[in-house]
Amino acid sequence: MAYVIDDSCVSCGACEPQCPVEAISAGDSQYNIDADTCIDCGSCAGVCPTGAISQG
Ligand code: SF4
Ligand code: SF4
Repeated sequence: MAYVIDDSCVSCGACEPQCPVEAISAGDSQYNIDADTCIDCGSCAGVCPTGAISQG
C-alpha cells in the first residue's frame, strides 16, 4: 500500500524533497502521492506539520 495525503495538507511543500523516488507532486488544492511510484519508505510522513500523510 502506498502512502496517501489527506485533505489536511496545507501545501507547505516540506514532504516533496524527502521522497527518494519523486512520487510527491503539487496538485491544485493539495500535494499528492503517485501510488504507482511510492515505495512505502515513510520518509515523507515524518516531516508533515499537519499529519496529513499516512499509510493507505
Ligand atoms: Fe515517497 Fe517514501 Fe513518501 Fe512514498 S512513503 S511518497 S516513497 S517519501
Ligand atoms: Fe502537505 Fe504535509 Fe506535504 Fe506539507 S508536508 S505539502 S502539509 S502533505
